[in-house]
Amino acid sequence: VKKAIDIKKPPEEKSPSGREHLGQSGGTLEAIRRIYMLHEIVLRFDFAPGSEQILNVVRQKARLLLSFDLCLVGLLNRGQTHFVLHSLSPSADAAGVHHHHMSVEEAFFGWVIDNQSPVILELRPGPSAGSDVESRIRKAGMRTLLTVPMRAGNDAVGFLAFGSTSEEVFTEEDIGLAQLFALYLATSLRNMTLLDDTRRRMAQIESINAISRRVASKLNLEELLGVAVESIQKDFQYFDITIFLLSEDKSELILEAHSGNFADLIPHRYRQPLDQGIVGCVASSGKRMMVNDVSKEPRFHSTGSHATKSELVLPIKIDSEVVGVLNVEDTKLYAFDETDAVVLETVCEQIGSAMKNAKLYDEIRRVNVKLTEMDKVKSEFLGIVSHDFRTPIANIMLSGKYVLKNEDIQKNPRVRDQLRLIVDQAQRLSKLADDTLSISRIESGQMEYSFKIVNIERLIQDAISQIQHSPRHKLEYKVDFNATYIKGDQIKLRQVIQNLVNNAVKYSPRGGTVAVSAQDVTEETILVSVKDEGLGIPPEQKDKLFQKFSRVNEGEASKMTGSGLGLWICKEVVVAHGGKIWFESEVGKGTTFKFTLKKSH
Ligand code: ADP
Repeated sequence: VKKAIDIKKPPEEKSPSGREHLGQSGGTLEAIRRIYMLHEIVLRFDFAPGSEQILNVVRQKARLLLSFDLCLVGLLNRGQTHFVLHSLSPSADAAGVHHHHMSVEEAFFGWVIDNQSPVILELRPGPSAGSDVESRIRKAGMRTLLTVPMRAGNDAVGFLAFGSTSEEVFTEEDIGLAQLFALYLATSLRNMTLLDDTRRRMAQIESINAISRRVASKLNLEELLGVAVESIQKDFQYFDITIFLLSEDKSELILEAHSGNFADLIPHRYRQPLDQGIVGCVASSGKRMMVNDVSKEPRFHSTGSHATKSELVLPIKIDSEVVGVLNVEDTKLYAFDETDAVVLETVCEQIGSAMKNAKLYDEIRRVNVKLTEMDKVKSEFLGIVSHDFRTPIANIMLSGKYVLKNEDIQKNPRVRDQLRLIVDQAQRLSKLADDTLSISRIESGQMEYSFKIVNIERLIQDAISQIQHSPRHKLEYKVDFNATYIKGDQIKLRQVIQNLVNNAVKYSPRGGTVAVSAQDVTEETILVSVKDEGLGIPPEQKDKLFQKFSRVNEGEASKMTGSGLGLWICKEVVVAHGGKIWFESEVGKGTTFKFTLKKSH
C-alpha cells in the first residue's frame, strides 16, 4: 500500500492557498483570527453532551480554520485494530465512507498514527492501487490529503484528514493548526469516551442486578429463560438475543428463548447440530466467541435470511458444565467489545445459577408429587384396614367383658387376669384403629365436621367420665362462669379432651392431680387446659410432638407404649375449629396442654 502512495514532506515554501494577497501584517492578523476561532470551537466541544455532538461541531465549524473540500475523522476501536470513519463534510458523505470500518493495516492511516507525524498525500488521478477508502477519496475528486494523528496523552485516538481538490494547497501554518485542532479534538473525544464508558458501566451493573433479580425469582425453566432474553434485550438494546440449550443426548442445541428482531424468522425449538455454527462451537468448547465481522468467520452459520454482521456467543454453565449458550447478534459490524462480553458473561453466570435452582425445584416438586401420591395410597390403605379392624376388635372386647362378668371366671383369678389382659389389649387396638381411621380421613380430606353449639362444661364432664385411671390420680375440672358455649363438633372435641386427659394420666406414672379447665380469655375465645403433675416434656422435643408418629424417646416416657398419633389428631381437630394448640412443660414437674376454641354468641 505504501509503495502506491506518494508521501511528501510539507512544502518548505509558504503558499497559503487563496491568501497570498495578504501582506505580512495581514498574515499575522489571519493567524490570530484562526487561533481565536480554534479557541471558540474548542469551547464548543466542552458543551457538547456526547461524541456525536463533538464531531458535529467539527462538521459545522472546521471551515473557519482551514479551507478544504473534504473532512474525515477515523476513530480507533477499543482493541486498536480498526478505525471507524466519520464523514464530516458533504463530499465525504458522497464518497460513502461514513461508518466505514477499516483495519489499521489498510492504507496509510495506521502509519500516520504509528509515526505521530502529519502526512500530505498527493493523490494522482487514475486507477488506485491503494485501499478502498483511499480510492473513494480519489474518486471524490481529491488531489491532496492532509492527515494528522489524534492523540490524547499517550493514547492514540485516531486521525483527522482534510482533502482538497487542488494540489499543494496546505501550508505549514495549516498543518500546525490542524495538529493543534486534532489534539483538542482527541482530548475531548477521549474524555467523552471515558465518561460514556463510566456511565455505560454503571448502567450495565444496574442491569445485571435487575436481570439477576428478575431471573432468580423464576422457578419455571421456560419462564426463566424468556425473562432472561427479554431483560437483556430491554436493558442492553442488542439487536437479537437467543438462548439455546443442549439436548439430552448433547448432540444438538435447541432454541428455547428468543427476543429481538429476528424472532419471527426462526421457529421455537429450532434444532441446530452441535458441530454447526458459532453457537455449536461455543457449546462444545465452553469458551465464549466474539465475532465482529461474520463474513470473515468460516464457522458462522446463518439460520435464515437475516443480515447478521456481528455475533457474540457465551456459554451458560451449571457447576462448570455447559448446558447451553446465550447468542447475541447484530446487523452492524464491530457491534461488540470486551465490556459487552464481560457483562454478558456475568449475566450468563446468573442465568446458570437460576437454572440450577429451577432444576432443583423441579426435582423437589416431582419427588413431592410422588410422595403425596404414595401418602394418599397409604392413607387409603390404612383407612380400609383400620375400618375392617374395628368390628372384630369391638366383638372381642364385648365378648371379653361379657365373659368377665361370669361368676365362675371371677372365682378363678388366673383366667380372670388373662381375660382382663385380652380386654385391655383389645381396647388399645380399638383406640389405634380409631386413630388410624381419623388420620386417613384427615389426610384424604374426608374428615367431616358437624358444627353445633356445644356446652363446654358438659363436654368436659362427658370426656372425663369415660376415662379409666388409678386411685393414685385425682381428676378434677373447673369451668369459668362466662365460658359456656362454643361452636364445634362435639364428638371430635370430646376426642381431643380425652386424648389429652389420657396422656396426662398415662405420662404421670406416680399419680397426682389432672386438672381440666375452661377459661374465658377474650370476647371471642375460650381457653381449655389440661394440667398434670407428671414426667414433663424435655424442651428440645417441643417443636416435633404435634407431628405424626412423634414421641419422646428418652427417659421413662420411652418405656410407655403409644403410637404418637394422638397429639397430631388433636392439632388437626383444633385447627379445623379455627383454634391453636400448644403446651407448657417442665421436666419432672408436669405439663399443661392448652387449646383455644371460638365462643358461640
Ligand atoms: P402417644 O401417647 O400414643 O405416644 P401422642 O401423640 O398422644 O402419642 O403423644 C406424643 C408424645 O408426647 C408421647 O409419646 C409423649 O412422649 C408426649 N406426651 C404427650 N402428652 C404428654 C404429657 N401429658 N406429659 C408428658 N409427655 C406427654
